Amino acid sequence: MKMEIKPCPFCKSTSLIVDKKSRLAGFNGLEERIERHIYSVRCNKCKARGPIASGLVFAVKNYHNLPDPDWATTDEEIKNRAIDLWNGRII
Ligand SMILES: [Zn+2]
Repeated sequence: MKMEIKPCPFCKSTSLIVDKKSRLAGFNGLEERIERHIYSVRCNKCKARGPIASGLVFAVKNYHNLPDPDWATTDEEIKNRAIDLWNGRII
């Protein structure tokens, strides 16, 4: 699902990007690499930045037949949360 990003509340620009950062969170007992992915919406024009959304995702999943644990999320979920936070921001 592609979410709509509202224009920048400061400069009204619609030139917005969803910024992504990632860092190693560790390895689980199955040697699967876990990363913390951090998303925020950023305005290209005035450089305003929205609230940060982050979560833990599998960077490498060796055992695809195992269900994801409760703490695991997906890039799409985190990204959508960052967009929600940006869209709902009170100015
Ligand atoms: Zn702006």
